[in-house]
Amino acid sequence: MPFTPNRDFKRAPRLFARAQGLYYYDPAGRAIIDGVSGLFATAAGHGREEIAQAVHDQLRELDFTPNFLRSHPLAFEATRRLAALLPQGLDRLFLVNSGSEAVDTAIKIALAWHRARGDGRRSLLVSRERAYHGVNIGGTALGGILNNRKAFADVLPAVAHLRHTWRAESVFSRGQPETGGEELAHDLQRIVELRGAENIAAVFVEPIAGSTGVLVPPRGYLENLRAICDRHGLLLVFDEVICGFGRTGKAFAAQSFGVRPDIITVAKAITNGTIPMGAVAVDRRIHDDILAAAPEDGIEFFHGYTWGGNPAACAASIAALDIFERERLFERGEALAPRFAERLHALADLPAVADIRSYGLLGAVELKPEGQPGRRGYEVQKTLFDAGLHLKSTGDALILAPALVAETAHLDEIFSILRRVLATLR
Ligand code: PMP
Repeated sequence: MPFTPNRDFKRAPRLFARAQGLYYYDPAGRAIIDGVSGLFATAAGHGREEIAQAVHDQLRELDFTPNFLRSHPLAFEATRRLAALLPQGLDRLFLVNSGSEAVDTAIKIALAWHRARGDGRRSLLVSRERAYHGVNIGGTALGGILNNRKAFADVLPAVAHLRHTWRAESVFSRGQPETGGEELAHDLQRIVELRGAENIAAVFVEPIAGSTGVLVPPRGYLENLRAICDRHGLLLVFDEVICGFGRTGKAFAAQSFGVRPDIITVAKAITNGTIPMGAVAVDRRIHDDILAAAPEDGIEFFHGYTWGGNPAACAASIAALDIFERERLFERGEALAPRFAERLHALADLPAVADIRSYGLLGAVELKPEGQPGRRGYEVQKTLFDAGLHLKSTGDALILAPALVAETAHLDEIFSILRRVLATLR
């Protein structure tokens, strides 16, 4: 099992057998409330009948076609629907099957674009400490987590890492920290000066570093990265695999923070978590330049996956986007966010809590480490499961990302379990 201490799991397996709404059920029928939308995926809650029906109907109509040389109408409909939610002009899409594939595809698009413009020396990538961009080779190189990188260090493409954006002075801040944005973004300027803009292709950031602990960028940070990229001809890529689809209050974090990247990667909630799917959205000019540079009648971009844009995933995505729209889910999530933040930050009085961070419906409670760093987070996450709450731990941080359809009563339940368990810790 991935990212799992397998020996420990075999001793005490924790299984889900069923899910509906905000709840998972174990094989014995015990309800476990879902505090993290599975894994940042089920924005509209579990067991959505409309999606199941759409996938069922699609499999009976057209079960499979690759998207090479031929395609199918739903692939175009899905991309049109997605483009309508994205920042204006990011309307050329490449469909893949996961967040990791989206990231590695985005790397290749960025490199292909510079080469198409005769700027082929630009191959260095920039990302951040504590970044997570999936586990394919490109994303592993971008990532800023030692354990994920160390066995592969000598085969990873070249990446320069900015500092992560957590600062001790911003502890317990709600939303964006007020200070440090400009200074932290200046790391990019320093890398440009050290390595030369002419060697750098693109800067990858999660608008909010999600799976490593909800590190919300200070005010001005993303704006300054954008300005430095513009000044030096670097592409700015937002990895919105977690932040996308209403998690931050708007459809995408690019809109919440008012910063327009050149490329956005998405996955997870794109099908409400049901069928594997991801997408890379690129600015139209990137698409046009790559096409213009290719020989007449030749393949423009040598890349693709057998299941990218498969009919079942496209049907699931369109059905999910229908639900998001019909139920005005992004607005609903935005309206729920202050209540979520209030309950989350109320945990600050507990002695074991070292920091709390939040933005939109994304939050983290950082525990004071006990013994080896990460040990306590892992143990508490298991205790919470046994107490009836599913969430994600990363190091000693507990991460919450409830579904956008959560009701106040769900938040009450999530936070009462959390308080009860955390109150036993010192
Ligand atoms: N990018 C980000 C920001 C992610 O959070 C994740 C997954 N948590 C990925 C990429 C990788 O996605 P996947 O697991 O679907 O490959």
